[in-house]
Amino acid sequence: MRTPYFRERSQLQAWYENLIANHHQEASQKVEELLNETEQDENGCWVTPTVEPRKLRLRGEQDRAYRFVYCITHRLAATRDQVIRHRCHNRRCINPRHLTIGDRRDNLQDERDRQANGVDWGLL
Ligand SMILES: [Zn+2]
Repeated sequence: MRTPYFRERSQLQAWYENLIANHHQEASQKVEELLNETEQDENGCWVTPTVEPRKLRLRGEQDRAYRFVYCITHRLAATRDQVIRHRCHNRRCINPRHLTIGDRRDNLQDERDRQANGVDWGLL
């Protein structure tokens, strides 16, 4: 007999669900703070003043800032298999217009495209 396959809901997904359902205003305020500390570069990227992609902590959990910005802005509790992609290939950028959602395969493809062609700014 085959066991039905249930995808396990990750802790982070539950965290996002709770933020979106019960603390969306607080989370949006946090997004605002994050965006306010960025600097815009010549490509229109809003870059966090960090070496690695910025992280943030809220209500007992933490995640990457770009993922947080996307999920809160779109009221989406991303699953473990959904990745937030940078169309600009700058992982320190949190400009919502440069972020899009995909799966892990898309993310690998993005990386190959970047290595092969560089960034196509016309698409942004
Ligand atoms: Zn960007």
